[in-house]
Parts: sequence; structure tokens; C-alpha cells
Amino acid sequence: MLCALGIDFGTSGARAIVIDAEQQLLAQVVVTLSQPEQPQVWRATLFDLLGQIPAVLRQRIGAIAVNGTSSTVLMCDAQGQPRSAVLMYNDARGAGQVDFLRTIAPPRHTVLSPTSSLAKLLWLQQQPEFAAAQYFLHQADWLAALLHGQWGVSDYHNALKLGYDVGALRYPDWLTDLDLAPLLPQVMSPGQVIGPVTASLCETFGLPASCLVCAGTTDSIAAFLASGVAVPGEAVTSLGSTLAVKLLSETRVDDSRYGIYSHRLGNLWLVGGASNTGGAVLKAFFSKKELVELSKQIDPNRLTELDYYPLIKPGDRFPVNDPTLPPRLVPRPASSVRFLQGMLEGMARIEAKGYALLQQLGASPLIQVKTAGGGAQNLAWTALRQQQLGVPVSPAPQIEAAYGVALLAQSAL
Ligand code: ADP
Repeated sequence: MLCALGIDFGTSGARAIVIDAEQQLLAQVVVTLSQPEQPQVWRATLFDLLGQIPAVLRQRIGAIAVNGTSSTVLMCDAQGQPRSAVLMYNDARGAGQVDFLRTIAPPRHTVLSPTSSLAKLLWLQQQPEFAAAQYFLHQADWLAALLHGQWGVSDYHNALKLGYDVGALRYPDWLTDLDLAPLLPQVMSPGQVIGPVTASLCETFGLPASCLVCAGTTDSIAAFLASGVAVPGEAVTSLGSTLAVKLLSETRVDDSRYGIYSHRLGNLWLVGGASNTGGAVLKAFFSKKELVELSKQIDPNRLTELDYYPLIKPGDRFPVNDPTLPPRLVPRPASSVRFLQGMLEGMARIEAKGYALLQQLGASPLIQVKTAGGGAQNLAWTALRQQQLGVPVSPAPQIEAAYGVALLAQSAL
């Protein structure tokens, strides 16, 4: 029986997960990424991960897919040799390109951000290395190409912030009219088969000659896929340092005022938004131990009536678009339990308002929320959220991006 391998490259580590046909996890390998901006380190880490998977499993791997951090990019030559520095997901060197982009891209387009892949490519175009470059690739594209050997292929999740039109499934004319167009990668559907693993890697790692490499995705979509959510109206809230929501929808919603955009998922859309509220604010006031202990003392049936909007510093975009919005954490009650409850209630309201906004803008009605991230374990918070959201809330059964991208690979088998 063939298995599928998912490989996740995050900001500080990389992980590989092998699943069987029943989607059971057979093996999991983790490697720390010492220098996350070095392609040679990515390559070594990729091969390290492959080498650590038990040989008996490697010979059963029928399909592989890779996810990387969204908008982590580089240029390479026709043989895949890097021809530029890596520009990491949060690199804002392209900030100076946004004014130009406004003159060509539609209003509110996702490329109109200092960290968009297209802003980065425009910045790279002005560097001397540009002349020797053949392809502009995302981290996941470059890593997958090490496996299948065809340079210049991407997927429409990674290519969204490059300006690819996921509705029409082509690059728009305003993009292909640019001088840099020859560097744009060919775009495939996530999970679509690109080709077999190269013969030399099959030999080195004992992979079957029939092992396929599929188009990959981004880290956050891979994490969403891991949750198993598949029906319109189902959603995943990620309660990490910040609060991010993703709602599977029959309709597409994009609104840059609120930082809302949609990824295509086959015939459905993954509509998402992210608030600056979240676990980082909790962390600023409580230790992990205090969070656990105090949360146990919360009675979710007795609300505090505190009207908090927890933020670390002023400003939010979703669901309230106000770059000057002040953190609201007063009055502070004498009881730490009540203070924490007030914050959790505030965040639950922000989350509910977020889903309400997505639906107002046309997304499918919310029917259920799965939860990922550090806050998913908090039962009091879950109860408060359930009251605000009015739909069932439960922890996501799987949250590892590597598991999600393994599911994507499996869909090719
Ligand atoms: P990151 O976005 O940094 O990857 P994680 O998904 O690892 O975040 O979640 C860490 C966050 O979860 C921290 O900011 C922490 O405040 C929060 N957190 C951890 N445990 C709890 C808990 N029991 N209740 C509420 N929040 C928690």
C-alpha cells in the first residue's frame, strides 16, 4: 500500500510526515532550521528529513508535496542555482514598489503590500543579479524542484501574492505586460502531479521509481488542510500569537481594507482574515502556568461585562480597520481571574465579529469552528467562544502543516 509524504518548511524548523491510505500518521521527523534564509540549508534540511524517514517506509512513498512559508522567495538560474538572496516572508525591501504597483494592479489587490511576492520581484529586478536569473520561485517551489528537477513551477496558493489570478487561472495582462514576465513560474493546482522524483534521488533514498512530486501550497493553507475541514461553512480559528480565521466558502471574498482575501481550494474558497489580538497579549500579562491555573477558575456562565479589545500596541485591521485603534484593557478588576476572563471574552467577541464580517461580505454561513494554536487547549476560552459564535467549537484533530500537505500529496494517489 502506497503512502504519502508531506514536507513543511516553517520559519524555524522543517517537518516531514508520512501517512497511509487511511490518513493515519506513520512517521514524523523534525529538523531545526539553523539559518532559515539560506537555500543551501533548505536543501540540506530537505535531504536530512528524507534520510531520517525509516527506509521501509521510504520505499512505499507514492507521492510527495512540499509547503513553504508564504512569500518567502528567491531567483535562480535554469539549473536551480540561487541567483539572489532569499527574501523572507516578512522582508519589506519591496515597500518602495507599492506606489508603482498601484498604477498597474486593480485597487486593493493582495500584491499591494510591501511584503508581497510581486513587490519583492520588482525590487529584485533592480539588482545586478537579475540579469543571470531565469526563474522567480517561492520556497516551496524551489524545494519541490529539487525533488522533481523541473525548475519554474509553482502552485496557485503560493502564486496568489505574486498576482496570479486564481479566478481566471492565469496571470493577468497587467502582470504579463511587465519586463519581468519571463521569470514568472508556471502555475499548477496544489496537489496536481508535476512529475516523478529524479532518478538520482530515488536511488539515494530508496524511493520507488514511480514516486510522484505534486504542486505544493503555503504553510497556513497546509495547516488548514490538516484540520480536515472540507464542507462550506466550516472554519478554523488559529489562536496563536495572533488570532486568524479561515472560513471555507462557496463564494470568494476579497477586501483589502480588512486584509481579507481568498485562496482557491478546488471549486471552493478559503476566506481568511487576521487580527492583532491573540495569545501574545495574554503572554504579556500572564505566564503559561498562570494562564492554565486562572483559566480553570473562570465560570463561562457569568460574564464580566468588561468591554476589552486586547492588543499589544495600537492598531488593528480585521475585523476593525483602524490603524490607531487603542488597546482597551481598563478598568482592571482586582481579581486576576476576572481580568483574564475579560480578555478572553474580548477576543471571543473579536473572533465572532470577524466571522460575521466575512459572512456580511458574502461568505458561506458559519456552521462549525475547529481551533488550532496554543489557545485551543483552553476550555474556558472555548466555552466563551462557543457562546459568542453560536456554533460548535472543537479542537482541530490535526494541526501540523506537514500533515495537511501530506493529505494534498495523497490526493494525487
Ligand atoms: P505562534 O503563533 O507563536 O506559533 P502558538 O500557536 O504556539 O503561537 O500559540 C502560542 C500562544 O498561545 C501564546 O501566545 C500563548 O499566550 C497562547 N497560549 C498558550 N497556552 C494557552 C492557554 N492555556 N490559554 C490561552 N492561551 C494560551
